[in-house]
Amino acid sequence: MALQNQSPDAWIPDRWDHEADVVIVGFGAAGAAAAITAQDAMVSVLMLEKAPEGQEGGNTRVAGQGYLNAAPVDDAIAYFKAMAGPYTVPDEMIRVWAEEGAKNNDWVRSIGGDPQEHQHQPVGIEFPDLPGANSVHKYHHGDTVGYSGTWKLFERVVKERDIPVLYETPGKQLIQNPLTREILGVKAEQNGKPVYVKAKRAVILTCGGFENNQEMIRNYLPGIPYCYTTGTPYNEGDGVRMGMEVGADLWHMNNFAGPSMGLKVPEYRTTFSMIALHFSKEMPGGMIVVGPEGERFGDEKYKTSHGKIKVSGRWGPMSVPCPMFMIVDHTLFSSGPIYDKEPSHAWNPIVDRYDWSDDNRAELSRGWIKTADTIPELARIIGVDATNLEGSVERWNGHCQGEEDRDFGRTKMLAPLSQPPFYAVELSPSMLNTQGGPRRNEKAQVVRPDGTPLPRLYSAGELGSMFSYLYQGTGNIGECLSFGRISGRNAAAEKPWA
Ligand SMILES: Cc1cc2nc3c(=O)[nH]c(=O)nc-3n(C[C@H](O)[C@H](O)[C@H](O)COP(=O)(O)OP(=O)(O)OC[C@H]3O[C@@H](n4cnc5c(N)ncnc54)[C@H](O)[C@@H]3O)c2cc1C
Repeated sequence: MALQNQSPDAWIPDRWDHEADVVIVGFGAAGAAAAITAQDAMVSVLMLEKAPEGQEGGNTRVAGQGYLNAAPVDDAIAYFKAMAGPYTVPDEMIRVWAEEGAKNNDWVRSIGGDPQEHQHQPVGIEFPDLPGANSVHKYHHGDTVGYSGTWKLFERVVKERDIPVLYETPGKQLIQNPLTREILGVKAEQNGKPVYVKAKRAVILTCGGFENNQEMIRNYLPGIPYCYTTGTPYNEGDGVRMGMEVGADLWHMNNFAGPSMGLKVPEYRTTFSMIALHFSKEMPGGMIVVGPEGERFGDEKYKTSHGKIKVSGRWGPMSVPCPMFMIVDHTLFSSGPIYDKEPSHAWNPIVDRYDWSDDNRAELSRGWIKTADTIPELARIIGVDATNLEGSVERWNGHCQGEEDRDFGRTKMLAPLSQPPFYAVELSPSMLNTQGGPRRNEKAQVVRPDGTPLPRLYSAGELGSMFSYLYQGTGNIGECLSFGRISGRNAAAEKPWA
């Protein structure tokens, strides 16, 4: 930091390059809700965004676009509490979350949106056995679900209101008064140079999780040595680090919407979804997934609850030994693209738009898919034990003949791997998003380990989300909107320090 030499105010930058009442770090759903709300409170707002213009929006841009408007509130409280399970989320937090979340539709309408309840069935109550589960009501803006529809509303409103956004300007460090602990601004970066941004009332961190930070993944996510995302490549745990540097407590760091299994190649930053693994899709031909020892480890077509499965009465992350290999025969390979080419969400199809070939041949040439005439030869190419892999295929083929997967109870695509040549795709653990980050209170203030607020610092969204154990689909954007508004309101109500 460019500090004034030896002065007692050595922490104050020599200059401020930008200033606003409320400075918001990260332009996704949480940042948009906070910015719009703070502007409604008649204060000036400035947003800092790490991605270039066109790639802002984070996971929100490429999400399924659903948001939760749970109702009635008492049932939502019961459901949110039950989802927290053995992890304690204070009752007051859950109450505020449920009450504010029940106003999401009103707010979307107030900014010109058109809330529509998802019509597809089943409606996607993730834990129907939990109390209050019927409070789940999922909405999106406009006629179509997906394809960035809800995000486009938030983006349009921020732009129409002329809320300034500095793109390609990642927040790097919070500027903190060491005596009062107040957060007075953000040191950001533009073209490799420091930029000092004064926040006269408060800073709100809405810069997402740590989906792309392999060190944090190893440290915090349970049992996986690496994991890649189907979402934005720009969420790298910066908010976690900035919060820790100023003394924030962390919570929910081991919870994440995953793992699933996806193809990650060096040429692309995010994972590709394999259509044969989708629980609701059927393809002809044989397919199994094996771990590094060449053995199956689960039902490849199992529908998890955002990566969680129930074992011995307790929900936990699905087992994903690394590396994993999807093995398919020629019947499946030649039946069409093995990548889900037309999904309505995920970074690759929505932003990077890799055009997977219809016959999978281009990906074979690129080396993303390996092939061999026999299973032992394929095993040699991918580096797994040939006897084990051959045994796994024979055992699977026997299950198919008996029409019962006696190992893992798989009921879908019970077809043998019989038609050579055979193919292998290496799979990595994949996820939608992390849930952990700086702990916040019911006012969206970031708090220290003793629970006291860090003055003038707020947060919202998946960075320090309320989801501690289980996750209900559409809950993340629902929470972005509710805590985005709470943070925007309270940040705007702070008295300016300058
Ligand atoms: C494929 C997919 C589908 C999903 N579907 C749904 C769904 O239908 N419903 C639902 O509720 N949830 C869904 N989720 C989860 C949900 O999208 C996210 O949890 C939510 O959108 C997070 O919003 P956010 O505003 O907290 O963060 P984000 O939307 O991720 O925005 C964070 C922003 O901060 C920026 N940023 C990062 N670091 C910095 C920095 N240092 N300085 C400045 N800016 C920074 C990023 O570039 C990004 O623009 C899905 C996720 C994925 C990946």
